[in-house]
Amino acid sequence: MEEHRTVDAALGIGNTLRQDFPLTGNVLQANLRRTEHDLATLAQSYAAEAPARIRYVKGAYKESVQVAFRSKKEVDRAYQRGIDRLMSAPGLRPMLGTHDPAMLDYGLVAADAAGRTTTAWEMQLLFGVRPDLQQRYAAAGQTVRVYLPFGRDWYPYFMRRLAERPANLAFFLRSLRSTRSRIARNSASVG
Ligand SMILES: Cc1cc2nc3c(=O)[nH]c(=O)nc-3n(C[C@H](O)[C@H](O)[C@H](O)COP(=O)(O)OP(=O)(O)OC[C@H]3O[C@@H](n4cnc5c(N)ncnc54)[C@H](O)[C@@H]3O)c2cc1C
Repeated sequence: MEEHRTVDAALGIGNTLRQDFPLTGNVLQANLRRTEHDLATLAQSYAAEAPARIRYVKGAYKESVQVAFRSKKEVDRAYQRGIDRLMSAPGLRPMLGTHDPAMLDYGLVAADAAGRTTTAWEMQLLFGVRPDLQQRYAAAGQTVRVYLPFGRDWYPYFMRRLAERPANLAFFLRSLRSTRSRIARNSASVG
């Protein structure tokens, strides 16, 4: 999901595509004031037999105060309200796209309260970001999806995401180095 003017189009495309391709997902951004309403509408529109997949993020775009919450506190509160709504909506499959351990832990508690099993919702983190956290939650039985941009424009997209937090570059390079050594080891043993 990009900036707020694209939301109606993206939701409309998602609703249309889901009629033939039920696994199509949409992203919603907690920082947008409209999102609680969008979540409520989606929750009413889908049933448990064919839930809509919703990736729920805090929102990466600088938006005006008219359309968005701006302080971290407000965004975090909105994110938690959205988690509660998602977890208690049988017609939605929550996918929490965040690296914030406080929000992921909140998700665990909310899922438990709503009676969702670990396979009925997901945590989603970017490749290379907090791999320790990804492994810890996965080892505890949680569904964790690692997000890897691909396609022609993967590089500028990935750089924008890394630039949100330059410390990620170190994580990414470490992860790349260990993957390369694994590939080199495997090729040597095949050769
Ligand atoms: C899978 C996925 C898909 C996304 N898709 C979209 C999208 O379509 N549209 C959009 O607007 N935004 C998207 N985002 C970005 C998102 O909106 C946030 O800007 C981004 O995830 C940063 O917010 P946060 O929830 O991770 O935590 P923040 O509120 O930024 O940080 C809270 C705490 O989380 C931890 N943390 C956060 N980021 C990192 C990091 N990079 N490395 C290590 N620790 C960290 C730290 O402990 C930090 O104190 C996506 C994010 C993910 C994970």
